[in-house]
Amino acid sequence: MNRRRKIYEGKAKVLYEGPEPGTLVQYFKDDATAGNGKKHEIVDGKGVLNNRISEFIFTKLNGLGIPTHFVRRMNMREQLIKEVEIIPIEIVVRNVAAGSLVKRLGLEQGTQLPRSIIEFYYKDDALGDPLVSEEHITAFGWATPPELDDIMSLAIRVNDFLTGLFMGVGIQLVDFKIECGRLYENDMMRIILADEISPDNCRLWDVKTRNKLDKDRFREDLGGMLDAYREVAQRLGILVETDNALTTGPRLVQ
Ligand code: 5GP
Repeated sequence: MNRRRKIYEGKAKVLYEGPEPGTLVQYFKDDATAGNGKKHEIVDGKGVLNNRISEFIFTKLNGLGIPTHFVRRMNMREQLIKEVEIIPIEIVVRNVAAGSLVKRLGLEQGTQLPRSIIEFYYKDDALGDPLVSEEHITAFGWATPPELDDIMSLAIRVNDFLTGLFMGVGIQLVDFKIECGRLYENDMMRIILADEISPDNCRLWDVKTRNKLDKDRFREDLGGMLDAYREVAQRLGILVETDNALTTGPRLVQ
């Protein structure tokens, strides 16, 4: 059997050449990193949970007509995706003050924002993914003004959907990060959602207890990261309630 060609390896995922032209395989690793890779641990089972949570969300988004790169899950750690040209911008949508916004503007964590706020960060590890404006994005050609309009409307639709999805299972969507790409089909190009949506790139707070159910458990050394991710999966109906034993790893609903 031939080894697959690795296209790209990031901190939490690997991309391999897909089975057909225009496809890739997205592999979810167990690596947890924070502080631009300064902090690094292996969290057994995280990749399996993120693969399933992201599959669940992207399937629903596709069903709503919000275009994504997701085609289908292949196995516990891999999904088949459409190959896109990634736009080098991280799009963050915020509903509640937390994280870097709190530090930058001196807000109190947990403050409801007057309205959802979209921010852009330039994807560059060496620079620490700096905050940039629409002017930077269009002036440097990272995306055109019409592409930016598409990206923002996509981000708002994803926020509306995710806010309702999580609220329905007692979780507040504080903020999240998405990435978009250009999909070329025949002579057409359109902007679609890429990457993943999981507790690795969302802030999710339990509505009743205010417990953090996301990667901040790792970033802030709170412990219980895998349990939190499992809790999210359970509430979304992806994991069955009895599958709690850390030792056996997550047993997933088919
Ligand atoms: P903040 O800017 O407050 O650190 O992050 C805002 C939101 O975007 C959080 O939900 C955070 O998880 C997500 N986010 C921002 N940058 C990254 C990143 O480089 N990787 C991941 N996984 N999530 C990010």
